[in-house]
Amino acid sequence: MRDYWQNYIAGDWVEGGAGRIAVENPGTGEVCTEHALADVGDVDRAVQAARAFVASDVWTDMRPMARGRIVQDMGRWFEAHAEEIAQVLSAEQGKPIWEARGEVGNAAKYFDYFGAQAALLEGRSIPLGAGYFDFTALEPYGVSAQIIPWNFPLEIAARSIACGFAAGNACIVKTSEMTPCASAYFAQAAEACGVPKGALSVFTGLGADAGAALAGHPGVDQIVFTGSVATGQRIATAAAQNIVPCVLELGGKSAAVVHADADLDAFETDIRKGIYVNAGQICSALSRVVAHESVHDELVERIAGVARRTPLSLGAEAEEPLGAMGPMISAAQRDRAVDMVAEAERAGAQVVAGGRKGNLPGFFMEPTVLANVQPDQRIAQEEVFGPVVSVLKYRDEAEAIQIANGTDYGLVAGVFTRDLDRATRAARQLRAGQVFVNEWFAGGVETPFGGYGKSGYGREKGQEALLNYVQTKNIAIRTR
Ligand code: NAD
Repeated sequence: MRDYWQNYIAGDWVEGGAGRIAVENPGTGEVCTEHALADVGDVDRAVQAARAFVASDVWTDMRPMARGRIVQDMGRWFEAHAEEIAQVLSAEQGKPIWEARGEVGNAAKYFDYFGAQAALLEGRSIPLGAGYFDFTALEPYGVSAQIIPWNFPLEIAARSIACGFAAGNACIVKTSEMTPCASAYFAQAAEACGVPKGALSVFTGLGADAGAALAGHPGVDQIVFTGSVATGQRIATAAAQNIVPCVLELGGKSAAVVHADADLDAFETDIRKGIYVNAGQICSALSRVVAHESVHDELVERIAGVARRTPLSLGAEAEEPLGAMGPMISAAQRDRAVDMVAEAERAGAQVVAGGRKGNLPGFFMEPTVLANVQPDQRIAQEEVFGPVVSVLKYRDEAEAIQIANGTDYGLVAGVFTRDLDRATRAARQLRAGQVFVNEWFAGGVETPFGGYGKSGYGREKGQEALLNYVQTKNIAIRTR
């Protein structure tokens, strides 16, 4: 890890107007590097440069296939530098190196996938009878502001940069102040692959300072945000003030309904991936299991077994897929999760596994399983954003759906059964933007992702995502 990272504003590597910020390695709790910290003036420079770039029409004059090839090249550049990027990501974010490698690979896939679609953003012709020729064109909004969280800093930024560029926008990326470093590689990739100067800025800054300045800047045409509901509300308010659209992805409290006929052996892998990858800091984490009463006790034991067999480590086990669980992002996030578990226990939940801080330096928390959780308890309603799964019991299908749908969120949901009729019935009834049947996280960059309810609006991933970055122009021609 180098000892200092600069911001990248409009094609230049620069110091931060607000000085520097220390970046902690969550695995040790120690400062591992420093990063330039942008202020409101830096944000304004990035927006002015992006506006000038948009006005130059460089992206939009280019044939979309050529622009798309540049986007795809950025993905290939990421693949070629994957190990170096993964090491930086692992150090600043805390995820084990196997997870970091996976995240870099997924980031590359977004460039590949959306770059290939740059030329597919086609309008249509609309018949108006004799005397008219009418057609639509999908035009970029212009300046896309992208505010990124710390849990998947590369994947989340990659999907918005790749879409933004494929559709012909300039992108301004405000990274999380906790994980700013690996995102510098987006700027390096852009420089190496011929992205025109001014099309991209990548910097970090404090949320309430640089983040708020970017979201509220009148020179921004569209905003993309992933993070907490509270910050999403602020961003939507800023977008409303400037009458610009925004995409909000605000997390969830997602449930897997496990029926009596489910493959419980396979479900152990779903639990391992669904709540203990990234130490549970995943917006679509499997944070609630809604288990049929006939399999409930066995399932609690199996899930507890998975938790007990998942070591906390950044050592040799962290090299292997599903080998070990890493730390949480910060002491504050870890302590909040531990406190939520203690509160749940006081409210009657049973801690079957984990529940405490990890006995290691750094911000580790034990993989945790709670049973005897009631649907209206805080632990079953609020996002813990940590390695904590709650198991709830149901008696019939209607009750299972009611519990699964019984939060303000609606990001993803799962149903586990060998009965296809039951699975399709549940898929229709579950109130979520994505439904997984018999595999948590089934899908990928190709499948639309986004929330119902307080999980937000707009879709990331899949072809739908591109539509967030374009506006429709209708051209009606009077012919004689
Ligand atoms: P956050 O929503 O405050 O931060 C996310 C991003 O928004 C960061 O880049 C931050 O700098 C920026 N930001 C903060 N305040 C801003 C403002 N007023 N205007 C513009 N940008 C602003 O999230 P957090 O404080 O890092 O984490 C708190 C909780 O959010 C977590 O416990 C978790 O529940 C949730 N979270 C969800 C996701 C997700 O993927 N949905 C990701 C991270 C955090």
